[in-house]
Amino acid sequence: MSCPSVKLNNGVEMPILGLGTWKSKPNEVTNAVETAVKEKGYRHIDCAWAYGNEKEVGEGIRRSGVPRSEIFITSKLWSMHHQCVEEALDETLANLGTDYLDLYLIHWPVPLNPNGNHPRIPTLPDGSRDVLFDWKIKDTWSQMETVLKKGKVRAIGVSNVSKRILETDILPYATVVPAVNQLEIHLYNPQHNLVNYLKSKGIVPQAYSPLGSVNSPLLSDETASEIAKKHGLQTPDVLLGYLVAKDIVTLPKSVTPARIASNYNGALAAASNLAKEDIEKLDGVAASGKQRRLIMQQWSVDLGFENWPGQTP
Ligand code: NDP
Repeated sequence: MSCPSVKLNNGVEMPILGLGTWKSKPNEVTNAVETAVKEKGYRHIDCAWAYGNEKEVGEGIRRSGVPRSEIFITSKLWSMHHQCVEEALDETLANLGTDYLDLYLIHWPVPLNPNGNHPRIPTLPDGSRDVLFDWKIKDTWSQMETVLKKGKVRAIGVSNVSKRILETDILPYATVVPAVNQLEIHLYNPQHNLVNYLKSKGIVPQAYSPLGSVNSPLLSDETASEIAKKHGLQTPDVLLGYLVAKDIVTLPKSVTPARIASNYNGALAAASNLAKEDIEKLDGVAASGKQRRLIMQQWSVDLGFENWPGQTP
């Protein structure tokens, strides 16, 4: 089954389903990527420098034998590299063994001290994150625009960015509007307001942790399970197909071949089988008392999200 794609605001096409690679161990991810691309139909891989496995992902892509030009590859600028975007991108390109990315995202809108006490998450003596409060995200964004102009990436975007940060720190200064915002979006954290806002701006929402990540409570959700049963599908199919049906680019991670296959086929089957009333029911699950973020990062900064414990909307 071939995967439908969505068109980004610069005309680039992106497959609506992609394979996630966070927490995929280096010794597992090469096989996972090779299998996904060679056998299961995936043409979109979501990577990040911070996942520490880009070299092995690149190896999986090469082993698949599918031409580079047929695969959509995303990677992300880590928070310690906001001041040196091109250098960080060059390292990612070398890791992946490619000379361009299809999409490059700012991973978090929180610049961290590149000379801090840790190679990925530097902290201060009180345990809070070592944030570069003086650095402006607009200056990171302008470097993202430069690598786009140089042709090293086909599109640029952001991740974990709220409406407030987009409107105050990025859009007023941007020459290029971000093509994508990759966010925690799933049944228990649907972010309806932010998703609708992004769509109104022509920014494509991407869903990370669409299955609820590791040890997910979503897999036993009653509403999703009932709807799955009604259609002869599995619960993960409904969790993924629900997002795809709403034109949200969806990035399930698995290193298990059977799940890599069933996530792809099941998501597409569910997306075409779910009725309007199913989607409406699923849309209401979080608001019925199940609203919950599953990926909490304590950045020591107010990111401006709704439903972020300890922060005002
Ligand atoms: P997912 O919601 O994709 O869930 C992954 C977990 O679910 C793994 O433990 C996997 O196990 C398991 N799983 C996969 N398929 C099934 C299935 N059919 N049935 C039961 N369990 C299943 O979580 P992630 O947090 O990994 O998010 C997906 C991707 O989004 C990431 O890998 C990454 O690429 C991206 N991401 C981006 C972030 C950002 O800040 N921009 C933050 C978090 C994620 P197994 O692998 O053992 O099969």
